[in-house]
Amino acid sequence: MAYDLTDKLVIGISSRALFDLELENGIYQRDGVAAYTAYQREHEDEPLRPGTAFPLVRALLKLNTAIPGRRLVEVVVISRNSPDTGLRAFNAIEAHKLDITRAAFTGGESIDRYLHAFKVDLFLSRDAADVQAAIDGGVAAAQLYDVPPDYQAPDNQIRIAFDGDAVLFSAESERIYKQKGLEAFIRHEQRHRHKAMTEGPFAKLLLRLAEVQQHFPPGECPVRIAIVTARNSPAHTRVIHTLRAWNVEIDEAFFLGGLPKDQVLHAFGAHMFFDDQEIHVESAAAVVPSGHVPYKGGQLLAPSRKRRVAKPATPATPATPDIDLLTEASGDATPDAA
Ligand SMILES: [Mg+2]
Repeated sequence: MAYDLTDKLVIGISSRALFDLELENGIYQRDGVAAYTAYQREHEDEPLRPGTAFPLVRALLKLNTAIPGRRLVEVVVISRNSPDTGLRAFNAIEAHKLDITRAAFTGGESIDRYLHAFKVDLFLSRDAADVQAAIDGGVAAAQLYDVPPDYQAPDNQIRIAFDGDAVLFSAESERIYKQKGLEAFIRHEQRHRHKAMTEGPFAKLLLRLAEVQQHFPPGECPVRIAIVTARNSPAHTRVIHTLRAWNVEIDEAFFLGGLPKDQVLHAFGAHMFFDDQEIHVESAAAVVPSGHVPYKGGQLLAPSRKRRVAKPATPATPATPDIDLLTEASGDATPDAA
């Protein structure tokens, strides 16, 4: 019988997300593909240092030894490398004893069409265009930032932290905030507090992780999931009702109301944190591995259909969509920037 990926958590990962290939990528950007290929061949047997997603991938693959005879996770390398230059990544996979055997090397062609072929639940890459294409194609995906200095992955657990709005949940509420301001956002969330939010780009991944957790007796699953959101009371109510409606239990939740996320993420010890707001990803990436989740189509607000002359934003909607500044200034309930 053919090998079945549908009952597994499938992570698609670029070689540059798995290993630190920044020096090599610099050669590619600066000197072109021929110089890059020559360099990779010359250094084929040199080990590669772990990249941003390495701790998460290693921890997830360990899950496959937790239940005898049951594989829960597959990791597939999906890369624009050629099969030739990809060999170095596979040598490194072997050297690091990672249980990864499947790969797609597209030789420079776009990779998004292969994500569905491999039933990928989560795609991790350093490349903004590949991640955008994945999100546009309906696959949970994040552009990873640099490896955080001094990061120590927690032992024997897998700790994943998600932002709420525009990551687990749809961007609808965030859009209201951006278009109409904080008070309108809070009124909207109060009015709809018992109504579940629609699914965001990472909702299916959350449900898939919840399925993995169900293979373990209560309290014994090494996977721990947290929401780290800038929402706070009263806007947090809708988060709780949404998770209830989805029948998902989150292990930990942090409603921060404008407090910075990085210290909480550091304390949580996340293997990976996902957020749609670059300002949060940037600060988080200094302490834990982090990835940016772009909006479908590349922007939160649809371009206006009417042609009109650009005018300065109204005071209620700052030109720079910096929710944190507004949150701090208001000292009040927060929209998500979450
Ligand atoms: Mg958000």
